[in-house]
Amino acid sequence: MSLPTGPALLEARGLRKTFGTQVVLDRLDLHVGPGECVVLIGGSGSGKSTLLRCLNLLEVVDDGQILLEGDDISDPRVRHDAVRARIGIVFQAFNLFPHLSVLDNITLAPRRVHRVPRAEAEERARAMLDRVGLGDRAAALPDQLSGGQQQRVAIARALVNRPALLLLDEVTSALDPELVGEVLALLRELRSEGMTMVIATHEMSFARQVADRVCFLSEGRVLEAGPPEQIFTSPRSARLRAFLAALD
Ligand code: ADP
Ligand code: MG
Repeated sequence: MSLPTGPALLEARGLRKTFGTQVVLDRLDLHVGPGECVVLIGGSGSGKSTLLRCLNLLEVVDDGQILLEGDDISDPRVRHDAVRARIGIVFQAFNLFPHLSVLDNITLAPRRVHRVPRAEAEERARAMLDRVGLGDRAAALPDQLSGGQQQRVAIARALVNRPALLLLDEVTSALDPELVGEVLALLRELRSEGMTMVIATHEMSFARQVADRVCFLSEGRVLEAGPPEQIFTSPRSARLRAFLAALD
C-alpha cells in the first residue's frame, strides 16, 4: 500500500483496539495530510466508527500511537478536553441537547469545558451558524428543525472550537433522502475551504466526489488506500472487489 509522503496533520501508527476477545483494529496505520479529505469505507462492523472514536479519545486504544500535528495525543497524560477542542466529531444521530436552544447547544462546550466567556462563545457560535446557513435559527429548539438542519447545527458545534480536524461518522445515515444533499453540500464546501476531514460513510457516490483518498477497512486494517478513481475502478484486493460488487 502506498502512503502519501509529506507532513501529517494526523497520523495513527499501529492502532490496536479490542472488545473482549474481538480484535477490531489490528495494528492499523492512517496518515492524513493537512487539508486532506480521507473517506473510510468498509463493511458493517469493519471498525470505521471505532477508529473515529479512538482518534477522538472516546475509546482507549490497547496499543499504538496517535499524533496530531506532531503531538502524541494517545499519551495517557494528555487532557482529553484539550484534544477534543482540536478534533471535532459529528455522529449519525446528531446528539443535540433537546432542551437547549441551537445557540446554547453550540456554546455549551466552549463555555463549560473550555472556559470561553459567554459573549465570545456566542459570537463564535453565531458566526458558525451563519457558516452552515442557519444564522436565523439560533433561538430554535432542535426539534423545531429538520433533520438536515439539526445535523448542520451538530457540524457547527463541532467546528466552534476551530478544530484542526473534523471527524464525521455516517452523518447522513439518519436523514430522510431529501435532506441528505444539504449536508453533503456543506461538507463539500468545508473541504474546498481546506478543512481536514476523516469521513466514515457508506455512500459511495459521495465518497467518490469528496475524497482525496479512500481507505478501505478490512480485518482491522486499512487494506487498500488510494484516490477514489483507483479504489472504485481498479481495486486491487479480492476483498475490496467483493465489497464493491456487493453494493450493486
Ligand atoms: P463500523 O462502524 O465499521 O460498522 P464499528 O466500529 O461500529 O464498525 O464496530 C466494529 C466492531 O466492534 C463490531 O463488531 C462491533 O460490534 C464492535 N464494537 C463496537 N463498539 C463496541 C463496544 N462498545 N463494545 C463491544 N463491541 C463493540
Ligand atoms: Mg459505524
